[in-house]
Amino acid sequence: MTDGSCIFCKIIAGEAAASIVYRDDHVLAFMDISPVVEGHVLVIPTHHTADLAGVTDDVGARMFALGRRVAAALRASGLPCEGINLFLADGVAAGQTVFHSHLHVIPRVRGDGLGFRHGLGRGRMSRLELDELAARLAGRL
Ligand code: AMP
Ligand code: ZN
Repeated sequence: MTDGSCIFCKIIAGEAAASIVYRDDHVLAFMDISPVVEGHVLVIPTHHTADLAGVTDDVGARMFALGRRVAAALRASGLPCEGINLFLADGVAAGQTVFHSHLHVIPRVRGDGLGFRHGLGRGRMSRLELDELAARLAGRL
């Protein structure tokens, strides 16, 4: 399945330029056009799905496996890379801007200034609160 208005589907179809790292029938890895740091790679499913809910278990496993392989390649590449972040934004509120689900693979070095900001700053929660939250989620799996 493809979406004609989707830039990542155009990349998959060869209709838009991309610097390809890896591709097979299920997943594709390519360089982010506007990297947060040099070496920033995106891993996407080759079948269009806007959100994480549409990623099958099989494709999700393939995306994660390719993300791990790309992470190892980054560490071996000679690029500055002391660590790796895997990151996936699902939904506008989470920062998703391209609605073809994708996994970011981002090389990190100490002091690079990247990172999550914790706006809530709740501090430690009580065990009771944590247990209630866990039960709420467990009941919906
Ligand atoms: P997100 O904000 O998680 O949806 O990430 C979308 C990412 O896609 C951003 O890091 C963009 O720089 C990247 N991006 C958008 N268009 C292209 C493109 N044509 N080729 C490569 N990366 C792209
Ligand atoms: Zn798409």
